Parts: sequence; structure tokens; C-alpha cells
Amino acid sequence: MPFQPPLPDEYQRMADPDVLARIAERKAALGRRVVILGHHYQEDDIVRFADFVGDSFKLSRQASQTTAEFIVFCGVHFMAESADILSSPGQQVILPDLSAGCSMAEMADEDDVVDAWETISRVGGEPIVPICYVNSTAAVKAFVGRHGGTACTSSNARRAIAWALGRGENVKLLFIPDQHLGRNTAFEMGYPLESMAVWDPAQRNGGLTDEQIRAARFILWNGYCSVHQIFTVADIDRVRAERPGVQVIVHPECDFAVVQKADQSGSTERIGQVIDAAPPGSAWAVGTEIHLVKRLADRYRGEKHVQSLTGIQCLCTTMYRIDPRHLLWSLDNLAAGRVVNRVTVDEPTKQLAKLALDQMLALPG
Ligand code: SF4
Repeated sequence: MPFQPPLPDEYQRMADPDVLARIAERKAALGRRVVILGHHYQEDDIVRFADFVGDSFKLSRQASQTTAEFIVFCGVHFMAESADILSSPGQQVILPDLSAGCSMAEMADEDDVVDAWETISRVGGEPIVPICYVNSTAAVKAFVGRHGGTACTSSNARRAIAWALGRGENVKLLFIPDQHLGRNTAFEMGYPLESMAVWDPAQRNGGLTDEQIRAARFILWNGYCSVHQIFTVADIDRVRAERPGVQVIVHPECDFAVVQKADQSGSTERIGQVIDAAPPGSAWAVGTEIHLVKRLADRYRGEKHVQSLTGIQCLCTTMYRIDPRHLLWSLDNLAAGRVVNRVTVDEPTKQLAKLALDQMLALPG
């Protein structure tokens, strides 16, 4: 992950209200030259300045459609890379803190993916279609693009899998890097757990026998989100005991047993939509990052009850590195004619990764 030097002292010393006031001034002065994209997991003092708020799928679309000269991405590094891949020539993507990475994306190293592909191709025989969750590096997306696969998000993983399975008879899927999203989605589509195997890049042959590789329809990368792994079946039992009638909704990056025990699962976008549409008086325990949960709780206070599924602070700490001071520093520099923290993907990687992202954006539905 790129190194982020400390902010100049001036930013460390500013009072919080001054930081927020100056962000508003800078944003107004830059006008349409800048668009700020904010992921749902960002803190409120970032989201309030975002022109668009969404999950990675919605923000990918925004990045491909905006005409702004500067795209300030308040999210994590892979999202900024995707924005650079999808943006037009002349647009520049800025990540206010370069150390805002995603531990899940870093679990799939391109060289390890190449090794896995070669072994599975040699042993498995059938055609393989790779699918990468957008929470992956540009290099992994390029690999997937080169091999005729697609990217996906938690909003469209089902459509991506259906598309990939339709690429030919006996197709085998390599799903990178979130094993939980792959497993939960394939199971929801009617595929049994026995049709899935987990590829562990730290082990020889992925920790699988040749027979297991041949038998698997889905080979799931051994990656996971450290935030969504926090939620447990015991959490669901506890909230149901404490608040009878509560509905449990979780993100599909959660463990299989948690998704099975929950009432519903869905992307961050869908979680918001379900709670929006829920009747007054309903109660919800939500298994996703705490900033989104708190925002939903605030929005419906006095009308619907919304709480986190866990009592533990389930914070995406890397996402949280994008704070108002870093946002202000980025905008101050833009206002002064300097671009700091630009995220760029080299041209050959960009071309191939774009194939995977374009295929995702073209998925039916
Ligand atoms: S919540 Fe998990 S998957 Fe999302 S950016 Fe944070 S570490 Fe990555």
C-alpha cells in the first residue's frame, strides 16, 4: 500500500468546525471541476460533502459517467483504481489518504492468482471463467479481463455468476478474492456447498487434491473481509433474545452460517433500500460496517429501530483513514493548482482491467 506522509501541521492544528467550513468553501470554489464520491462506510463528515454516496457498484457507474476534471474518491484504494480505469482521458482520480487500502483486496496477489489459474487449468480440464469482486487490485482485474471473465460487486454477484456459468458447458468458476460472497451467492442460486472448494494460496496446490479441483464447480479464493467476519451466529441469537421481532439483515461478505441464520442478506445499497421500505415500528439488526448502520439509525430515529448486529465496534479502519482533514488537504491543493495523491493505473493494466469492469457494467438486469 502506498505511503501517506503526515499532513502539514496547519491541518493537524485546525479546529474541526474550521476544517468543515473550509471544505465547503473549497468545494464551492472548485465547482463542477471536482466531483466527490463517498462510500457508504465513510464517516458523516465526509458523506455530507459527497456529490454521490453509494456502494462500490454505484460509485463505479458514477466514475464512468462524470465529466468532472477531478474525481475525489472517498473510499479505498481499489475503488480509486477502478475510477481511474473507468474515467475518461484528462480526468484525474484522487484518494485523499493513500494508505486507505482494503485488506481483502490485498489477499489476492496477482502472481498467486496466475499460479492458481495454471494449476486449475492443468488439473481441472474444463474451461474456467474468472470472476473478481471489485474489491481486488487493478492487476487482478486485468488478469480477469485477459481471461474473458468479469468483475462483480455484492449488488450483482448473482448476475455475474449466472453470466459466467452460461459461457459454456461444464464451466468452472474461479471466484476472487471473497470466499464468502462467492459461497453465499452460489448457494442462494441453488448450488450445494459440495460443489465449492476453497483455494488457499498459502498452501501447495491451493490446499486441494487434484480430485477436489476436478470435482469443484466453484473454486473460491481464501479471502475475506475482516469487518464482516466479526458477525457471528451468537450475535443473531443474542439480538433475537433481547428484542423479539427484530429482523436481521447482513452483508453477503459475512460467514455462510451467519447469512443462513439472518432473515435477509444484501449489498450495502440493498440494506439501505430494505430498511427504507420497512414499515414504521419495525426493528432491524444490521450486519455491516458501523458508519452505515449509525447513519440508518439516525435517519429513522423515533420511527424504526436500527442497531448493529454486534456490540463490538465493527469499523473499516482503512476506510476511516479518509477523514475531513485529508479531504481538505486534497481540495486545498487542487484549488492551488496542484494534484496530490493521484491514483493511476498503467495503460496496459488499465486496458485489460477495463474489460472486466465493462463486462460487469454490461451484465443484464
Ligand atoms: S469493509 Fe472489508 S471489504 Fe470493505 S473496504 Fe473495508 S476491509 Fe475491504
